[in-house]
Amino acid sequence: MLGATGSIGVSTLDVIRRHPQRYQVFALTACRSVEKLYHQVLEFQPRYAVMTDADAAAELRQRLAATAVTTEVLAGADALVDVAKADDVDQVMAAIVGAAGLLPTLAAAEAGKRVLLANKESLVMAGPLFMRAVEEGGAQLLPIDSEHNAIFQSLPGQYQGDFTQHGINKILLTASGGPFRGYSAEQLQQVTPAEAVAHPNWSMGQKISVDSATLMNKGLELIEACFLFHCQPEQVQVVVHPQSVIHSMVQYCDGSVIAQLGQPDMRTPIAYGMAWPERIDAGVAELDLFALAQLNFEAPDATTFPCLQLAADAFAAGGTLPAVLNAANEIAVEAFLAEQISFTAIPTAIRAAMQAHTWQAADSLDDILQADDWARHFTRDWLAHACRQEDAF
Ligand code: NDP
Ligand code: MG
Repeated sequence: MLGATGSIGVSTLDVIRRHPQRYQVFALTACRSVEKLYHQVLEFQPRYAVMTDADAAAELRQRLAATAVTTEVLAGADALVDVAKADDVDQVMAAIVGAAGLLPTLAAAEAGKRVLLANKESLVMAGPLFMRAVEEGGAQLLPIDSEHNAIFQSLPGQYQGDFTQHGINKILLTASGGPFRGYSAEQLQQVTPAEAVAHPNWSMGQKISVDSATLMNKGLELIEACFLFHCQPEQVQVVVHPQSVIHSMVQYCDGSVIAQLGQPDMRTPIAYGMAWPERIDAGVAELDLFALAQLNFEAPDATTFPCLQLAADAFAAGGTLPAVLNAANEIAVEAFLAEQISFTAIPTAIRAAMQAHTWQAADSLDDILQADDWARHFTRDWLAHACRQEDAF
């Protein structure tokens, strides 16, 4: 469990809790949340607990010493990689947020695990490299992102990446539209971090909540879909569906549209990924269509929310551009959450980074990590400079 203390981590542990005969936790990992990880370790008693922050690891070790639990506490980012590829591990839930998830998720793919992919950023940053690692490592890659999980469920079982062979016309990638759906550009300038993280349907970590509000989440998901399902952006249509009940669809050449529906509760895709091809109880309430009454659809407003197009541009450019997009977004979102920049400065900063970057092929992990590092420095400097001239925003 990479990222055990986060929103996906907690939901995953809830599914595991319901199936003690079926699953055993080998390792739980977090960055700094000692209190949360401590309680999770007491309950699940994994062989290892990893904290990337050394002080946090020391504190956890000390607290566990006073208990009967025999879990070994490891510290540092290398330990994430070690537990992700350990021999006794069958499946790895990749639920660290952001670029920090790349190395351990990649390690799990190389080691041929079942990789339950929530950490979409690793696929955005390193798509071709990651997909190659999955193939060469003999890993099973199962999408946990609700939309991609729905697409996976709506594609033919034998699907290997050829739309024509299966009569597939396009993927319909649904989006809730986020908390600011229908807002004008002027209204967006005034929105606060508290408003941005208050998602209408989903309860998620702060970073992905802001991504949902800017539509960058849908941009990252567009890239994620292209790599996972071996298709082009033109074959993926974004459909805003405010109720978040249809989690995505596949449209076929005979006019059929196959959709997956369910409550907006991540335990459904998590349980599906963990048990596939079987299905297990996820603790999710039945969908009540009478209570729901309506399903609505509209086109995304790509002008007011430019992040969707920025992501499509980054994918089209390829090479190091998607890693730059991702890193610039992480820094801009951090600055917005810290109330240093306005909401509308997020896409402006990302665009600036993409324009300033010198395109490079992303043949190796080093190329990608260097582009990530460059974009973080560039965006920090750019925002510090732009913030001093406040009227820029
Ligand atoms: P959270 O912010 O809730 O949790 C993030 C987890 O990652 C925490 O366990 C955190 O530990 C850990 N973490 C953060 N930084 C680091 C780091 N530098 N090194 C190691 N571990 C770190 O995020 P979510 O659960 O919302 O999202 C996780 C991933 O899943 C993201 O990639 C997101 O896009 C994706 N996803 C999430 C969905 C959701 O519903 N939440 C839906 C679809 C995809 P600590 O608590 O110690 O900080
Ligand atoms: Mg999603």
